[in-house]
Amino acid sequence: MTSSKHVRTSSCEAPAGRRYERQLWMKQVGPQGQEKLAKASVLVVGAGGLGSPILLCLAAAGVGTIGVVDGDSVSLSNLNRQVLYSTGDIGQPKALVAKERLVALNPEIRIEAYPSRLDPDNAYALFSAYDMVVDGTDNYSTRYLVSDAAVLFGKPLFVGAVSNLHGMAFTVIPRTTACFRCLYPKSPTAAMAREERARGILGTTPGIIGSIVAQNVLKYIVGCGDWLAGKLLLMDGEDNRFELVPLERDPQCRVCGDQPTITELFSMKIDPRQSSC
Ligand SMILES: [Zn+2]
Repeated sequence: MTSSKHVRTSSCEAPAGRRYERQLWMKQVGPQGQEKLAKASVLVVGAGGLGSPILLCLAAAGVGTIGVVDGDSVSLSNLNRQVLYSTGDIGQPKALVAKERLVALNPEIRIEAYPSRLDPDNAYALFSAYDMVVDGTDNYSTRYLVSDAAVLFGKPLFVGAVSNLHGMAFTVIPRTTACFRCLYPKSPTAAMAREERARGILGTTPGIIGSIVAQNVLKYIVGCGDWLAGKLLLMDGEDNRFELVPLERDPQCRVCGDQPTITELFSMKIDPRQSSC
């Protein structure tokens, strides 16, 4: 137990650099990597089950500018997995609460909150202000929009998806590795999406996949290791099994293929029920 003589140093008195000390010790990060993190900007679409661990990890690591896009408010049923929020936040806009939590975690970085839904009209302005994008949404219409916008605007995209005890993650380098549409050329039907949602989810599933997505963002920024570009990581949390499978870009893809038929976003129809997982 800490004795009264050992007074804790307050955050304002902490020596500069101590916040990132343990990652500065890493040969893959060091002062140069930390500088890259400080200069990086990441837009996270969806501040739900996946977005929560992703945002916390990126903010804690010192990513200099983080954008949070989410048009939803916190509800009681979010709290089994959306670890950014507390019971007292119910009814509050997620993007604004997320900003408050992340600023409290790391006041040395910039957090921009966008408490609105991503749509074809605001996608360009949002995406163009950031170096890269993370998809933390859970519905297909928004996933297609995020992926199409990332390809059209040339932004690296980090994708996570979860259901029940299962999840997956992959990274899109536009027009180089497979996009979301290469993986799912046809949108699942509304009935299939409802069935997937009805399987429910344990909070640990987005916790694990969100942390993997954030880890790949951080490695991409500092330039070390593998980023899951052109690879699909599948997690079977029920049996503690992970599998890595190659992901090929589809030359017939409507957005990143050799003869794309989707070349702009503004004619797209977006499902108004989009939400984060
Ligand atoms: Zn594609």
